[in-house]
Amino acid sequence: MDIALQERLQLALTAQRRAFEAERMPSYAVRRDRLERLLKMTRQHGEALAAAMARDFGHRARQESLLADVFTVESGAKHALHRLRRWMKPRRVETPLHFLPARNVLMRQPLGVVGVVAPWNYPYYLAMAPAVAALAAGNRVLIKPSELTPETSALMARIVAEHFAPEEMHVITGDAEVGKAFTQLPFDHLFFTGSTPVGRIVAQAAAKNLTPVTLELGGKSPALVDRSADLGLTASRLAFGKLFNAGQTCVAPDYLLVPRELMEPLTQRLLAEMRRMYPTIAGNADYTSIVSPRHFARLQGLIDDAAQRGARVLRSHVDQPDDRRLVPALLLDVPPDATVMQEEIFGPLLPIVPYDQVDDALAHIHRGDRPLALYWFGQDGAARDRVMAQTHAGGVTVNDCLWHLGQEEQPFGGVGASGMGAYHGEWGFRTFSKEKPLFIQSRFAGTKLFQPPYGATFERLLALLKRIV
Ligand code: NAD
Repeated sequence: MDIALQERLQLALTAQRRAFEAERMPSYAVRRDRLERLLKMTRQHGEALAAAMARDFGHRARQESLLADVFTVESGAKHALHRLRRWMKPRRVETPLHFLPARNVLMRQPLGVVGVVAPWNYPYYLAMAPAVAALAAGNRVLIKPSELTPETSALMARIVAEHFAPEEMHVITGDAEVGKAFTQLPFDHLFFTGSTPVGRIVAQAAAKNLTPVTLELGGKSPALVDRSADLGLTASRLAFGKLFNAGQTCVAPDYLLVPRELMEPLTQRLLAEMRRMYPTIAGNADYTSIVSPRHFARLQGLIDDAAQRGARVLRSHVDQPDDRRLVPALLLDVPPDATVMQEEIFGPLLPIVPYDQVDDALAHIHRGDRPLALYWFGQDGAARDRVMAQTHAGGVTVNDCLWHLGQEEQPFGGVGASGMGAYHGEWGFRTFSKEKPLFIQSRFAGTKLFQPPYGATFERLLALLKRIV
């Protein structure tokens, strides 16, 4: 273990912890000011962040960066600013009759110093959205962004240092080794977004310190097309959800489950929609590149492996890839042992799996881990309700893709192998708060009657209590 690195991390943590101890319950005004600075930083540097992401990815559609990384942080910060006063308020909780006239109050208290580890696919959003929640809740924040987006991470470190004191919020850049040392720090809460295998390691590191963790992980998110679906609408929305950020989205539809007789028409419509949105792939400014040569080779490997095992590969375009833009591919007749059916795809490849009965589709979903997202397309409400009741998923969008992620009033987080805990809006505020119950006793309480020496009074009171609860 790199001693200098450990010392540097420990110093950053100690500085934040001392600052927190000097101000354990930051006021509304202090929190508001921090959120306003985060908002200002995001607005001021949005274009520069988009340019840095484009350099990191090889190419990244500017509009995708401005929508998915910049606007999302702005809207999350504004949402928190509008509701902060209400979220901070202690709330009265019901007190049972036999405890009156005492009172129950639930106070929300910041945890202290929070660690945030972020991945590369939405490098600004996935670092700053947890930070918004942590700052709103009154915490100090240390962030470890991804090494795969070095320009964005360096820019983030610089602008955070310009807008925040290091003991308020601080960015520590570095690779997996830095991530490892970072997650071994005794934070008051650790918030990790990344892959399921690394999530397991992070959970173990946190366990040594009994640091609570939120794990925002990935996995294979299915899209189930019902027989009642409008095929045109379904194809258009699926193509968008799959090709946004070139499929490098934690909640992208990973594979499709389609009624057998609809497979051919849906495939044709998907190809047509992909061509409508992206008339060309080569040189298209709207189409994002694959983040690194290694990831590009991995995706190409998934296609080759499926083809070798007998899958039909339909490319949406004839273009040769450039700047690591990967031509989208639909994969049909893929055997279940193909790698593309085993691991999270995280790219513009879409296996299409036919089913005869909805139960067959449900059985397919149940064979895998509980996914981060599930999509259902159709018009038949009873069929939808049945699928919702019979499946687990981190979150669901019905008749579209991705958009449940933008709902600040709903919790965002996985279940099972796709993660634990949640954030967004008030859910994030609560993740980074200790909800401390206060039972405020009255001087007129009759609890003395329960004190020893025990005798007939105790027995009579217990019998009375049993009758009234
Ligand atoms: P990753 O797990 O490889 O890396 C994530 C972060 O962890 C990086 O900052 C990395 O440096 C750090 N890290 C790597 N090894 C570590 C270790 N041993 N200990 C501590 N930290 C370590 O993930 P990635 O490739 O950057 O991102 C892609 C994955 O993230 C996909 O699986 C995707 O589904 C998932 N993801 C999930 C969400 C969500 O909200 N649930 C969002 C985006 C991405």
